[in-house]
Amino acid sequence: MSAIATLVDCGGERHRLVWRDGELQAADHGDVDGERTLAVLGGTSCPCVEALDAWSRHADDLAVLSALTRGPAETIDRPRRPRTGWVGYAPLQARRPPYRSTMVAVAGRGRGGPALGAEAPDDLEVLYGLGPALGSRLVAAVTRRCLERVAAGDAASLPALRASLAGRAGLALSIWSDGALPVRVETAAPDEPPSLRRDGDELVAALRLGWVADIWGRGLTSVGDRFVLGGQEDASGDMVLSGLSPDLERIEEIRVRIDGAGR
Ligand SMILES: [Zn+2]
Repeated sequence: MSAIATLVDCGGERHRLVWRDGELQAADHGDVDGERTLAVLGGTSCPCVEALDAWSRHADDLAVLSALTRGPAETIDRPRRPRTGWVGYAPLQARRPPYRSTMVAVAGRGRGGPALGAEAPDDLEVLYGLGPALGSRLVAAVTRRCLERVAAGDAASLPALRASLAGRAGLALSIWSDGALPVRVETAAPDEPPSLRRDGDELVAALRLGWVADIWGRGLTSVGDRFVLGGQEDASGDMVLSGLSPDLERIEEIRVRIDGAGR
């Protein structure tokens, strides 16, 4: 498998939108600009092109982190159209599947929040509609771009990145541990080894912000019975993962190949 794909209804046909080599692509349209022009001239819509355009407007938008999936096990009660303020997740209530959470409108505006123009909620709904598999790639891509900004000295996106890590790693850990204990996720510093330990009645994880892009975004949160604390790409293009045993005692190196779908 070299691409992640989802099918969309497009002019009465089923078309493929794919994630490959770090880009969202409309696999069944050779000439995207031409389709866009035809749609405007004819007053019609082309859902494949609309999805590409929605993504191009939000490819470094922190709002994507809160609007899209936290994981395949989650279902979201999503309001039709958030009208004011930021959109975020309510705290995770259930510790066992289906891990239902509610999209809530939270007061607050400013840098890092979604633009609240007329088109913004629709764009995010379009991206949400692409499903959790593609959605996880989009979240990973936004995370990467925001981390580049952080590395360049712009810390404005840090709160949203921390919230994204806490929500996504928290859900993955709850599933991995079968909801045995409440989970708390802290942000590990870039030079601090990631960890997971039991602290009283809690499972406490310290993970790096890049975990969302490198691990969660590739569907690698657990491999076998191991929880993946982190990992990095080696010179041959493999991911070398740190997998923690269920008794939290042993960390094992796990090597997986990544391809165009994982980039
Ligand atoms: Zn199409």
